Amino acid sequence: MSILHRDLNNIISDEEDVDDPKVDGVLMDSSEDESNNGALVAAAAAQLRKGNELKLTRPPPNKKHTCLQSEIPTSRSITGADACSAGNPASLPIQKVKLHYVVHYLHRGVFNHIVPELTGEERKRVEGYECNICAKKFKNNVTKGEFPARGSFVCHLATDHGKILDMMRNDKEVDMSPVIDLLKTYDPIFHQFTLTGTKTDKDDNLVTEKESLYWRMNMNSKNNNG
Ligand SMILES: [Zn+2]
Repeated sequence: MSILHRDLNNIISDEEDVDDPKVDGVLMDSSEDESNNGALVAAAAAQLRKGNELKLTRPPPNKKHTCLQSEIPTSRSITGADACSAGNPASLPIQKVKLHYVVHYLHRGVFNHIVPELTGEERKRVEGYECNICAKKFKNNVTKGEFPARGSFVCHLATDHGKILDMMRNDKEVDMSPVIDLLKTYDPIFHQFTLTGTKTDKDDNLVTEKESLYWRMNMNSKNNNG
């Protein structure tokens, strides 16, 4: 046997010695132990998530997106730092894009059938809203005259439960597919919803309105006095 041949044999046998126990160990663990099996599945899922995250790229800091909905009429004008109106579309850093469109859809009335907009005195009727998908609660401060609950719930439903994706896909006024592609690239949560969809068993009844006790008491005393 030449030196070369012996070395080659050593290399081959070394590889077999090192590799086989590892393979056996994995197979034995997973077939013999249910809980270990669960751990492996969890580890695989974590790997997969890690892989998915790695695929997503960070937006270049100077990259801007010009809003595609500036020409679509809204019930309320969009003002502030990211003001957006006909002829003057907002120019948005990527991390602001998703919420900007939530505001457009909110003011276009797209959420009204899920959670009606209340005005004037009627706003005091609602103490808050509870998300029927995850039981998260959103509160107004009726006594202070502060009513952030509806907006917060809509934002939660659109982003955390991904419903903004359906609104973009079903938009009859503007083709939102470039925005879907953009968000898919940079937003891991949004990306996930494009793969899994957003369907839940609560879609027919997404929110529970909590009536204000303060309102109820006032109504009762009015009714009793009048
Ligand atoms: Zn929720």
